Amino acid sequence: MAAIELDRISKRFADGTVAIDDLSLTAADGEFLILVGPSGCGKSTALRSVAGLETIDGGEIRIGGEVVNDVAPPDRDIAMVFQSYALYPHLTVERNMAFPLRMRKVAAAEANRRVADAAALLGIEALLQRKPGQLSGGQRQRVAMGRAIVRQPRAFLMDEPLSNLDAKLRVQMRAELVNLHRRLGVTTLYVTHDQVEAMTLGDRVAVLNGGIVQQVDSPHRLYRRPANTYVAGFMGSPP
Ligand code: ADP
Ligand code: MG
Repeated sequence: MAAIELDRISKRFADGTVAIDDLSLTAADGEFLILVGPSGCGKSTALRSVAGLETIDGGEIRIGGEVVNDVAPPDRDIAMVFQSYALYPHLTVERNMAFPLRMRKVAAAEANRRVADAAALLGIEALLQRKPGQLSGGQRQRVAMGRAIVRQPRAFLMDEPLSNLDAKLRVQMRAELVNLHRRLGVTTLYVTHDQVEAMTLGDRVAVLNGGIVQQVDSPHRLYRRPANTYVAGFMGSPP
């Protein structure tokens, strides 16, 4: 496990779009931190920068105190879960989950053990021999989570992982995520555009708008004591 620190990071794309402007944010070691904001406010860019999938123009990203600006994505030792599950359609669930371990040359016995443990944790033991096309959306998302868990990364990055699910399943999966975090205790930076999701999932929530963090606080305080009119409007605070 490790803290994730974004220290005054900025990202401008080649077309001149400033996606992130001087953003600072810290997920403490073992914390589940939510980053919430409207579409286009820079959430995915921030996560992708932490993962090393975007090169930042300014600032520093630290994982477990180590500056990772120049560390290649596979060497950052963090796992990302997306809204599109990005499973390999031709591989079974078991092989999808074991894939990152094979790439890292983890011994077969150890890989099997980790896949079995993660499958039990997520309640997908009975699905291991199926292919992604034979799974529901919720099951696919569990497999995607399983693939992240087996790597035993020092942090998770989740980019709207529930947004492709129907409303009922989304609510159920929120509870499962909270439980999963309690059991694994891995530092998680979780991105969503959904205020209700942010309020239910996070101990601490960072509200982002226009590439700038507006406030970081408990859900209760964001609602009761918004730092500015933007946060008040976004969280639906009483006037
Ligand atoms: P969010 O995830 O909060 O919806 P993004 O981080 O995807 O927001 O995008 C932030 C801003 O950066 C948006 O204005 C978006 O259009 C822009 N953007 C994202 N990716 C690119 C890109 N590859 N090239 C140019 N602009 C981009
Ligand atoms: Mg996004």
